[in-house]
Amino acid sequence: MGRIHLSVPHLGEQEARHAGAALASNWVSSVGPQLDGFERAFAARLGRPSVAVASGTAAIHLGLRALGVGPGDEVLVSDLTFVASVNPVRYLGATPAFVDSDPDTWMMSPGLLAEALEARARRGRRPKAVVVVHLYGQCADMEPVLAACRRHDVPVLEDAAEALGATCRGAAAGTFGDVAAFSFNGNKIITTSGGGMLVASEERVARARHWATQARAARAEYHHDELGYNYRLSNVLAGIGLGQLELLETRVAQRRAVFERYRAGLADVPGLAPMPEAPYGTSTRWLSCFLVDAEGLGATRDDLLVALAAADVEARPVWKPMHLQPLYASCEAVGGRVAADLYARGICLPSSSSLSGEDQERVIGVIRGVART
Ligand SMILES: *Cc1c(COP(=O)(O)O)cnc(C)c1O
Repeated sequence: MGRIHLSVPHLGEQEARHAGAALASNWVSSVGPQLDGFERAFAARLGRPSVAVASGTAAIHLGLRALGVGPGDEVLVSDLTFVASVNPVRYLGATPAFVDSDPDTWMMSPGLLAEALEARARRGRRPKAVVVVHLYGQCADMEPVLAACRRHDVPVLEDAAEALGATCRGAAAGTFGDVAAFSFNGNKIITTSGGGMLVASEERVARARHWATQARAARAEYHHDELGYNYRLSNVLAGIGLGQLELLETRVAQRRAVFERYRAGLADVPGLAPMPEAPYGTSTRWLSCFLVDAEGLGATRDDLLVALAAADVEARPVWKPMHLQPLYASCEAVGGRVAADLYARGICLPSSSSLSGEDQERVIGVIRGVART
């Protein structure tokens, strides 16, 4: 019995063909037909211009810069998230402030966001941007988020790293914000081993592409009038992405099926509630998450983690909120109790699209065993 991981890459048959074509043609660097093709296919899917970069973090960094974020600015960010949603704020010399989750969706609370924007407007200090994170395959409630931001004329970056394939009121994650960032890290729903995509207007995408290639002007000599980065995705990895993108619908269906098997297999276990699927959209169930009520279950979330680890099953707590991170302890937080509670009681179970039925039964068996004690 091997270790069961949280979320592993799941390749199909076309990735090797596309990446092999890149190798065979010697287009193995940061330009080439696979890169162009991957960006075109992604842009066609989202209906928005797209630029492929080395990571989701790089996409967020470039996206925030495209929104004009710089030294001294404030950026509001979802409190419950992975640290990569926030670090680029600091890369740019700006300061994050955190907005708590809505208990019904786990995403940024639109009501708290509106309050935070009001309070800042009264002080005459408008944040430079809002980073709203789509968590675990589900979209944030974009309608009220966008309404609040428009009222205060604050641009929005969607961190859609975990939500490729998710929808909100029929529209895809990544089509709402002024800019949106995706990740193709190995644990995401599709992967390029590592990579990301920035989605925005034609003009912003052109600027981001320029910055991602050391801001080198189109001249014979090396000419730079702006600060750039080495952030471009490799053409070989774009080949992997091309193959993976063809599989997205299948992977979404598989992840949702994994979630459904947990839901059914644990339905009669008291004190264990699945992450709610918001009524306004479809979640990809990138990760299957549950909330533990220790009294009902007769065991804590940490008891579950210990039992699963002992059975060689990789499970994780829900993200530790940013306001609890030593790195960001000095930053302002609007609320934080909901995110702290989700972190204290939330668990992410193995959710790979390749997870076998037997392996999943093993996970369910461990949890049911803990619940009986
Ligand atoms: C994975 C992830 C990122 C970062 O993506 P990388 O490709 O690993 O840099 C950013 N935000 C969230 C919410 C993520 O889950």
